[in-house]
Amino acid sequence: MRRVPVPATYLLPCTCGRKNQVEVRQAGETIQCECGASLEVPTMLKMAELEKVQTRQTAGRPTWGPHQAMILFGALITTVAAGMAVYCILARPRLPDIRAQEPVQTLYYWRFLRNDTDRRTITEGKYAENVPLFRLATGVLLVVACGGVVIVTTSTVMLRKKKLKAGGEGPASGP
Ligand SMILES: [Zn+2]
Repeated sequence: MRRVPVPATYLLPCTCGRKNQVEVRQAGETIQCECGASLEVPTMLKMAELEKVQTRQTAGRPTWGPHQAMILFGALITTVAAGMAVYCILARPRLPDIRAQEPVQTLYYWRFLRNDTDRRTITEGKYAENVPLFRLATGVLLVVACGGVVIVTTSTVMLRKKKLKAGGEGPASGP
């Protein structure tokens, strides 16, 4: 990943020994050296044979850095944790909701529970056992997901600050 490169600059030597900087867009033009001599800038094709100016610009600076890595990392954490939390919420253990049932059904259910005490014990026992675990898991996952959001937000803000600070002038030192 590279930024748009700056136009290439070449060095056009003069008989006096000076090297005059010429840009590609000046191809075919005539420039004047400091010594007073007129120099014909070669065509684009021949210009490529000239000595190129080594530009220490941000042109070659990769846009991928630790901030981008952190943003990706945070986004990944949030996605995975949130997905798992949603799964936990959907798959959480539930006792049959008696209030949502018809009175006849409720009566039937209670009769069933009274007659089958063993099953009742098992069902409620499992429920009681699983609920704290599910609540803990969901809570932890939600906290992790929030942590991921914090990482993404912080990294984005830091990256934006860094970009503003840099203003296209070389690599900026961190805050
Ligand atoms: Zn000259």
